[in-house]
Amino acid sequence: MQFKDIEGQRVLINHLTEIIDTGRVSHAQMFLGPNASGSLALALAYAQYLNCTNRQHYPEGAALRADSCGECPNCRKYRELVHPDLHLVFPSVTTPSVSSTSVSAEMFQEEFRQFLNQYHQCGTEDQWYESLNAANKQGMIRERDAANIVKTLALKSYEGGYKVLVIWMAERMNLSAANELLKTLEEPTEKTLILLVAESRDRMLSTIISRVQTVVVPDIASGFSAEKKAAFASMFVSWMRLLFKLNMQSLSNWVDQTHALGREQQKQFLQYAQEAVRACFLKTAAGITLPGELDFGDEKFDNFFPAMVTPRNVEGMNQAITDAIYAIERNAYAKITFMQLSFTLSKLIKNR
Ligand SMILES: [Zn+2]
Repeated sequence: MQFKDIEGQRVLINHLTEIIDTGRVSHAQMFLGPNASGSLALALAYAQYLNCTNRQHYPEGAALRADSCGECPNCRKYRELVHPDLHLVFPSVTTPSVSSTSVSAEMFQEEFRQFLNQYHQCGTEDQWYESLNAANKQGMIRERDAANIVKTLALKSYEGGYKVLVIWMAERMNLSAANELLKTLEEPTEKTLILLVAESRDRMLSTIISRVQTVVVPDIASGFSAEKKAAFASMFVSWMRLLFKLNMQSLSNWVDQTHALGREQQKQFLQYAQEAVRACFLKTAAGITLPGELDFGDEKFDNFFPAMVTPRNVEGMNQAITDAIYAIERNAYAKITFMQLSFTLSKLIKNR
C-alpha cells in the first residue's frame, strides 16, 4: 500500500513520513481510528515507506510530501503482503475445519490477505468474520498468537531491514495474550516495529496503552464544515494565546466556555486542535503547508504560531491531546481535563 492510494488523511500522512525521514520512529505505536478511515492501510503504508529503498519526495505544494516508490523489491513484496519481515496478527475464530485447540492467526494468513485485498485494507471486523463464513462469531487474539509473535520477533530479519509486526484489532487480545506481549513492547529487539491497529482504546489494557505511542487516525466521515472549522479555529487561537500569558482568570473563562459546549463538540474541537498541531509541525519541520490547513483566520497568529511546534515538543503535544480526547470519551470532568491539558501544552510550548 502506498500513501497515495489512501483516501484523505493528508496531514497525518505528511506527519508520518516526516517522522520517518528524521529517524524518530517509535518502536511501538498504536494507530487508533475506525477501520473505514484506513487505519490499517495507513499502518501498512507506513511500514512500506519505512522499508522502501527508494523513497520519493515531492516538491513543495504537492498534496503529499513523500511516498514509497512502489517498485523496489521491498515495495513489491509489501504490496502483495508477502514480505518475509512483515507479520500480520488479527482475531481468528474456530471454523468447521479449525478447532479451538489449534486456532490462531497463523492458520488464516491466506484468507486474511484475500480479505485485505477485497476491501482495500479498509474492511471492518464484521466483514472479516463474514469472509470466513463465521458472521456470528467473535474472534480473539490468543496467547498462542502472542507466543508466536514473541518467537518471530526474536529471530533475525530475513532481508536486513525492519521486522514489522502489525496487530489488527488489537483490542481483541485476551488478557493472557496481552500479558505475554508486554515485555516485547517494553524491550523490543533491534530494528523491530510493532504497529497496533485498534478502533477502541477503552477495551485495551492500560499496561499496553502506556507502552505504545498513539497515532489518532481521524474519522474521515466527520470532516468539519467550513463554518465549524472557522469556529474551532477562533477558539484555538484564543486558547493558544492564553497559554503564552497563562493568565489564570482568562484561562479559567475560556475553560468554562469550552466546558459548556458538551462532550461531542469538545471531542471534535480536540481533534481539530490535534490536526492543527500536526499542520504546524509540518510547516516548521518540512516547510509544507496544505491549502487551507494553516488558515486560522488571524494573520498575525498564522505567521507566528507554527514555529511553536517543533520536533522537540510535537509528540508530547500530540499525546497530551490524545489523552484528553479519551478522558472526555470516558466522561471525565471536562473543566479539569481542559485545565490540565492547558498546563501541559503551555509547558511544552515554552520548552520548544
Ligand atoms: Zn520502494
